[in-house]
Amino acid sequence: AKREGRGRVRFFESEMDKELRDRRLLQHDLRQALEQNQFVVYFQPQARIDGEVIGFEALLRWNHPTRGFVPPDRFVPLAEENGLIVEIGEWVLREACREAASWPRPLQVAVNLSPVQFQAGDLERSIHQILLETGLTPTRLEVEITEGVLIGDFTGALHLLRRLKALGIRIAMDDFGTGYSSLSYLQSFPFDKIKIDRGFISNLEASLQSAEIVRAVLSLAHALNIPVIAEGVETEAQRAFLAREACEEMQGYLVGRPDLIERYLDLVGMTVER
Ligand code: C2E
Ligand code: CA
Ligand code: CA
Ligand code: CA
Repeated sequence: AKREGRGRVRFFESEMDKELRDRRLLQHDLRQALEQNQFVVYFQPQARIDGEVIGFEALLRWNHPTRGFVPPDRFVPLAEENGLIVEIGEWVLREACREAASWPRPLQVAVNLSPVQFQAGDLERSIHQILLETGLTPTRLEVEITEGVLIGDFTGALHLLRRLKALGIRIAMDDFGTGYSSLSYLQSFPFDKIKIDRGFISNLEASLQSAEIVRAVLSLAHALNIPVIAEGVETEAQRAFLAREACEEMQGYLVGRPDLIERYLDLVGMTVER
């Protein structure tokens, strides 16, 4: 048993070494990804609970030259570690705003911001600059932040959020319910929207607790006059539950998967040939 135990430890360490080596390789490749145009912005529709599409969330994709598509959950943390997310995040913002500004229908576009973008760089200036450059009406831009933004320099983050709001853009609280203090943060900042995390929605049918949590989030949000969007809605049963509970909006495979905007040209009001 002892030998087996030692063997397991050695195996585990080599897996860790492999993981570390792989992270370093990816971090190295990330440095060239922007210049070599390896990033692509996908768009996923966001709809009212009745199905009417009202906007899109921009979701970053990295098309690695040898590995193919690397998921954002894999590379965003690496880009946060070495600070590259500041530049990459600006690029996503610019692409998303430029794209949205070209749509005949004035739909909204949502962009994810990393906590690192709040700490480093001049986020207010770059968003202001990008809005001017692309001509996008500020009220059409929504930024999605997680509670990670408010951890650490809480007052600094609040000031910045207020200045962003003063630009006219909207602020959504992402991954709601997954953190420790989401509830208390609702009190400290007038969020324009709450996104219920996909985890609660996918468990709606299987878990009574998830259903109760979703109900509780909705009644709290409504008491505070904040509209709610449910993430990861895949089935009509989930949509029907949310509609009954007066959830305002939804996003998920039921409405559409993240894809190149070309797939959604009809929705943005363009003819299919562009
Ligand atoms: P998120 O912001 O919570 O985004 C929602 C994730 O759920 C996306 O994964 C989306 O593709 C996926 N999703 C949407 N609808 C469904 C559904 O019906 N079923 C299932 N199973 N999944 C669904 P994705 O695109 O892999 O992104 C993962 C995370 O990476 C995002 O989570 C976000 O935190 C981060 N991310 C993506 N793009 C960016 C970006 O431009 N900047 C930053 N900082 N983070 C990003
Ligand atoms: Ca998001
Ligand atoms: Ca989420
Ligand atoms: Ca997330």
